[in-house]
Amino acid sequence: MSTQSYIKWLGHAAFEIMLSGKKILIDPWISNPLSPVTLNEITSVDYILVTHDHFDHLGETVDIAKKTNATVVGVFELVNYLSEQGVKNTIGMNVGGSVKLTSEIEVYVTPALHSSSRGVPVGFIIKAPEATIYHAGDTGLFSEMDLLGRLFKIDVAMLPIGSLFTMDPRQAAYALTMLRPKAVIPMHYNTFPDIKQDPQQFKELAESMLPDVKVFILKPGEVLQLPIK
Ligand SMILES: [Zn+2]
Repeated sequence: MSTQSYIKWLGHAAFEIMLSGKKILIDPWISNPLSPVTLNEITSVDYILVTHDHFDHLGETVDIAKKTNATVVGVFELVNYLSEQGVKNTIGMNVGGSVKLTSEIEVYVTPALHSSSRGVPVGFIIKAPEATIYHAGDTGLFSEMDLLGRLFKIDVAMLPIGSLFTMDPRQAAYALTMLRPKAVIPMHYNTFPDIKQDPQQFKELAESMLPDVKVFILKPGEVLQLPIK
């Protein structure tokens, strides 16, 4: 494990995560208005996790997978579609399932309360020695988050706070009482005027709901080192 482990926000719901020496992209909509990188700058990726097939999450998955040979992980119907688009390496899954990507990295598929055209929308829990990470995908508040909080010791949760399509700051803060993570990163806000939110307001609500939680308001391109201290 010579490489530094980290979570980097690429704007919207897109993250680059380095865990146990593997580079993982989640929901790589690299052309999003907040993105700190261009598609050309993305040259090596091991895995791409896609929560659902809306354009702002599927993003440039096909292009990136084709040029890097990354393995795409997602719901069965979605990855079948990606195979038809020429993506070579895929792992089709469904809610409740888990897969070991390597001897150190395990991915679980969680429910998400949202919509999609192919299969169902999901979230992911990624377990690795450095951290257990929960990316909620696009979702409303749902009570099974309490089960996720009991089953997994979540270190970092990425939660949408933009409202309109997902939870707003108040609901995302309430979600923390069920998920009980050590740290939270707000996402899916301020990409467009429609989902404008004040992340400071989320921070205050989050700290009132779960006093020990660390709120990391990342700027696009900013990195949170793992494990978190
Ligand atoms: Zn979205």
